[in-house]
Amino acid sequence: MSKFVYLFNEGNSGMKEILGGKGANLAEMTRIGLPVPFGFTISTEACNAYYDAGKTIPAEVQAQVLEALAELEAKTGKKLGNPENPLLVSVRSGAVFSMPGMMDTILNLGMNDETVEGMAKLTNNPRFAYDSYRRFIQMFSDVVLDVDVFFFERLLEETREAKGYTADPEMTAEDWKEVIQGYKNIVTKHTRKPFPQDPKEQLFLSINAVFDSWNNQRAIVYRRLNKIPSHLGTAVNIQSMVFGNMGDDSGTGVAFTRDPSTGESILYGEYLINAQGEDVVAGIRTPQPIQTLKNEMPAVYQQFVETCNRLEQHYEDMQDIEFTVERGELFILQTRTGKRTAQAAIRIATELVNEGIIDKKTALLRVDPEQLDQLLHRRIDEDFERNQLAKGLPASPGAATGKVVFDADEAELLANEGQKVILVRPETTPDDIHGIIAAQAVVTSRGGMTSHAAVVARGMGKACICGCEAMKIDLHEKQFRVGDVVVKHSDIITIDGGTGEIMLGEIPMIEPELSEEFQLLLSWADEERKIGVRANADNPEDSAKALEFGAGGIGLCRTEHMFMDAARVPIVQKMILAETFEERNAALDELLPMQREDFEGILEVMQGLPVTIRLLDPPLHEFLPDKEELLVEITKLQILDPESKVLKEKEALLKKVRQLDEFNPMLGHRGCRLGMIHPEIYEMQARAIFYAVANLADKGIDAQPEIMIPLVGHVNELKEMRELVNAAAQSIKEETGKNFEYTVGTMIEIPRAALTADQIAEEADFFSFGTNDLTQTTFGYSRDDAEGKFLQAYIEQKVLPENPFAVLDREGVGKLVETGVELGRKTKPGLKTGICGEHGGEKSSIEFCYNAGLDYVSCSPYRVPLARLAAAQATI
Ligand code: ADP
Ligand code: MG
Ligand code: MG
Repeated sequence: MSKFVYLFNEGNSGMKEILGGKGANLAEMTRIGLPVPFGFTISTEACNAYYDAGKTIPAEVQAQVLEALAELEAKTGKKLGNPENPLLVSVRSGAVFSMPGMMDTILNLGMNDETVEGMAKLTNNPRFAYDSYRRFIQMFSDVVLDVDVFFFERLLEETREAKGYTADPEMTAEDWKEVIQGYKNIVTKHTRKPFPQDPKEQLFLSINAVFDSWNNQRAIVYRRLNKIPSHLGTAVNIQSMVFGNMGDDSGTGVAFTRDPSTGESILYGEYLINAQGEDVVAGIRTPQPIQTLKNEMPAVYQQFVETCNRLEQHYEDMQDIEFTVERGELFILQTRTGKRTAQAAIRIATELVNEGIIDKKTALLRVDPEQLDQLLHRRIDEDFERNQLAKGLPASPGAATGKVVFDADEAELLANEGQKVILVRPETTPDDIHGIIAAQAVVTSRGGMTSHAAVVARGMGKACICGCEAMKIDLHEKQFRVGDVVVKHSDIITIDGGTGEIMLGEIPMIEPELSEEFQLLLSWADEERKIGVRANADNPEDSAKALEFGAGGIGLCRTEHMFMDAARVPIVQKMILAETFEERNAALDELLPMQREDFEGILEVMQGLPVTIRLLDPPLHEFLPDKEELLVEITKLQILDPESKVLKEKEALLKKVRQLDEFNPMLGHRGCRLGMIHPEIYEMQARAIFYAVANLADKGIDAQPEIMIPLVGHVNELKEMRELVNAAAQSIKEETGKNFEYTVGTMIEIPRAALTADQIAEEADFFSFGTNDLTQTTFGYSRDDAEGKFLQAYIEQKVLPENPFAVLDREGVGKLVETGVELGRKTKPGLKTGICGEHGGEKSSIEFCYNAGLDYVSCSPYRVPLARLAAAQATI
């Protein structure tokens, strides 16, 4: 018989797969002697058994639950449903990977008309007993019976109003009794059955509901976002209740052992006096900072601080801890590795190394490269005077500008249209998750730093401000008010999640810099990694950024962007339209000094580091005007000014555009095919590069150009282009009397090139795998068509595991890369190889490149830090 149920003293933190994260940690904390209310965990395997049995709890599981329940009763000396001494439990979901707030939890289970009286007598606190009972009816009805909380909240509000109260603490025992009757009526009305009184029935229905919540909409969305497999299932924890709502010597709270926003080593948390679990996270009442607990309950605070330290030492990482105080006694209800911003992740990882708790390798693995993106975003310009409208709690750092929206669905809708929005809500609930994903940032008027909005936003690296109470939101009118200022739906605001400030309008932003801890962590990464990181950059500014972020060179300098400059386009067009050799050369002569200057700028910034320059790649018609637009203009001129010179020119242009028109430009006259047919273009580019190198030699800079011929499919293409480049070099060496070094290599981006890499290597000093085109040509997909038309469906239908343009396809494209490296090095051992293309900045692709033995990856300057870290992780 397999074991489906584990008492808390039977498990440990290594059993997450079976017990879920929450259950495994409850067991671990029980094991190391922390004050955890006793209970048991129904395993994730039981969840799968539940689904296998058509959503019923198998008899075997039921029997084991009852057995464990008996043990729990024995241990606590209480009994489920016994009015004399009732056992009350919570039923808590707990997946393998934490999914905060995504699934359901029920508190105070075991309450019924009889046990509530028992509780009242036993605790000598009828008000508390009835409060707990009404909470239970509401939660159970919401989660299990599917009765909307709205009905309960409305009744509660009406009762409060009728009594002239402003808040719940004013409610008396008798008032709660009245509310309970009303609640029961609501249940009967909506379910056509009375509220279930049998605690065992309550228990099994709740277990069912938690298993079901694994597949609720928001859980599915969250799993998709976080790439959590859906076959894992959730565990269910049954735990005896402790009560934070027993009076002013009781309370409940949440704390992080370090600041999850900045990483600073301070206790960071909040609590509410006389409240139960969900109250803090739900953001209904704004809680007090944990530090004030020191004065209110010094002994409890002391014990809590010690427990936090102990848990952090034990788990060797920052913890997120839920606790409850019942009549002055501390209980720990949950611990898990705390979610944190990238900034905090870096600071915590480096400080834990300095504190001797973890080693450098562990620290490197603690930071998710993808998360670093957050730190490399723009911030609000500090020099700009801020016109602050309101200030809330700085719940998640970062700056954002966008249109105000008040609804998650609308946020999603507008974001899909490409608009930038900021989601403004009184508070958020897990049902708003899609809106938070879509928004640039989130602002709430209620709730604290550990409220749902804050936790979720931090996890996604989104700016967030919480508890901005000065903001009076009117959801009905779709506006909010701060003092006299009214901000309407669609108005633009800017927020700074690092300070909590909200400002009207758009505010200038500045470029990011790397913090000291970030530099330190990256220096550890550099010690560890065995693959180089270069950047793709087409101008001196980007090159400087790349260098600042630690690039070891430029892996791809695209020359076409230099041609797109508005001042140059007419000259480029002249070159393309030239009828004679002389005309064309005249245009090229004009372009040459411009190109020389471009190259000189980049090579100068890079100060002797290698710079791979790709000769012109796109089809020439990309530099000409759009055919349709041209036609419209010509038609107009034919009517208005049929004799004009402009018309003649335009007609000539149209003729050329038509000549250059291609059925399939991606596979057309581009790359080295241009250089083969119009050698003078490549020649001009090569000469410009060598002039730049010669000029720099005068400045004492030993430039390292690597000239790259694109789209080679046959060795003969490369042979011819290489001779052309060599001839240009020779002529400039003679002309300037200077000697310089350079290499000539090729991009491998056509399958044939990869398959004949042994031949191609005869003519190449290096290979650079252009994985964007190689993916297109290997799959036979045109990227622009695929991404819009069918790729998304392919991924959803699991035809493809991932977008191959984002994550390198190891089996197909990867095989060609491996073949290319192997064949190339057979001809030329030690042949230098790299990858340029978007994959060079993606962590799984970087890992692949390391394993394939490439010398370097190249990615956009902003992804260089990420790539340095990912490259280190690949070796650990
Ligand atoms: P989530 O996964 O949404 O955080 P939990 O299962 O942790 O849900 O429950 C939410 C809150 O309910 C907890 O933070 C805790 O304060 C409270 N809670 C859960 N179980 C108990 C219990 N046995 N006694 C007292 N409070 C509890
Ligand atoms: Mg919950
Ligand atoms: Mg919890």
